[in-house]
Amino acid sequence: MKKPNIVILGAGYGGMMTAVKLQKNIGVNDANVTLVNKHSYHYQTTWLHENAAGTLHHDRTRIPIKDVIDTSKIKLIQDTVLEIKPSEKRVLLEDGEVTYDYLVISLGFEAATFGIQGLKEHAFTIGSINSARLIRQHIEYNFAKYNTEPDKKPERLNIVVGGAGFTGIEFVGELANRVPDLCREYDIPRDQVRIICVEAAPTALPGFDPQLVEYAMNSLEARGVEFKLSAMIKEVTENKLVFEKDDQREEIGTNTVVWAAGVRGNSIVEESGFEANRGRIPVREDLRPEGYDDVFIVGDCALVMNEEAERPYPPTAQIAIQEAEHTAGNLERLIKGERHLEPFVADLKGTVASLGDSDAIGVVFDDKKLYGWSATAMKKVIDNRYLLKLGGIGLVLKKGKLNFFHF
Ligand code: FAD
Repeated sequence: MKKPNIVILGAGYGGMMTAVKLQKNIGVNDANVTLVNKHSYHYQTTWLHENAAGTLHHDRTRIPIKDVIDTSKIKLIQDTVLEIKPSEKRVLLEDGEVTYDYLVISLGFEAATFGIQGLKEHAFTIGSINSARLIRQHIEYNFAKYNTEPDKKPERLNIVVGGAGFTGIEFVGELANRVPDLCREYDIPRDQVRIICVEAAPTALPGFDPQLVEYAMNSLEARGVEFKLSAMIKEVTENKLVFEKDDQREEIGTNTVVWAAGVRGNSIVEESGFEANRGRIPVREDLRPEGYDDVFIVGDCALVMNEEAERPYPPTAQIAIQEAEHTAGNLERLIKGERHLEPFVADLKGTVASLGDSDAIGVVFDDKKLYGWSATAMKKVIDNRYLLKLGGIGLVLKKGKLNFFHF
């Protein structure tokens, strides 16, 4: 019998975890497994806000794929996916193509800009090692430039973050830690620098426990973060952001707008003809889209319904990892000739948002609220647990967050 070709697109949380599980559980004689990724490294997307603020070097966040994947078992192709041709079971890459019997699409997310004028052209987004590194360098450049100009430009020191959701809050938390260091380094008084978070909803972290939201806002405001709530961003240019609040138009002079208010699935899936809702493909209970028995979707490209809540699960690393482990199991079943695939059941353990390196908030194990040190420690446990699953204790020791007593 011909060995099936399993092709995994994207080496993020979903793709890497699928590959690692297959590497452990199937033999080289059972299937040919190929992992295609843009870069030679995997990165933990959930740490990118730290790289962008400059509080964590990006080499801590990225992991060479070959450190985790055994290339005698899994073929690695470093290339960019351009298009999937599901009717021909082919994937077109920048430098060639691959064919598959089973395909796992785990190409992650991209920014959703909702047609806001100038946002795509002038705002930064936190989406990859490259984009995070660019934000860090851009902020530093503006601080360095400030004191070299005879007429001081406040827009160099105003950092505006669009969105007070999970990513926006985590990023301003890191900025609040980083800015005092930058001020010392570039001889700039702290009170000249503004960190402004603009959010359309009347509260930060919409949907989160109100008590914890209040805690988060107090913690961030005490470190100099300004919030503009119920404020709709209307336009971004090279040196200003315009928003509307209480029917009034307001402007903030700024060279640095970081958009953290919306993500969508990778547009490649729509361009390849899959029916998708903002880049997220609705899937059946076994994570295959209707009409495609040879394609699995995991991570941010999948739209998985939470039947209890009657709405899709929000895209998170947590659910991407679970979907990946589940998909690897179902691929093993298919390889063995089984026809019945197991339905995916999400088992969400909670949510923790960092507020810089020594504060956080979270709700875990159904309704246990955490804040301060216990939430920070829990966040590190979650991160280290992922590394343990991915590459064992060696990877935890190399890349993990092991300092539990940093204040
Ligand atoms: P990703 O992990 O983004 O991986 C996609 C991979 O595909 C990448 O390696 C990319 O390089 C590759 N790729 C993309 N396009 C191509 C192409 N054309 N060709 C080849 N390769 C390609 N979730 C949580 O659960 N907890 C958190 O605390 C949390 N914090 C976050 C903080 C930030 C700053 C951000 C941005 C997100 C956070 N999330 C968090 C969300 C979480 O990171 C995503 O849900 C998760 O990364 C989705 O995993 P994925 O495998 O679908 O995609």
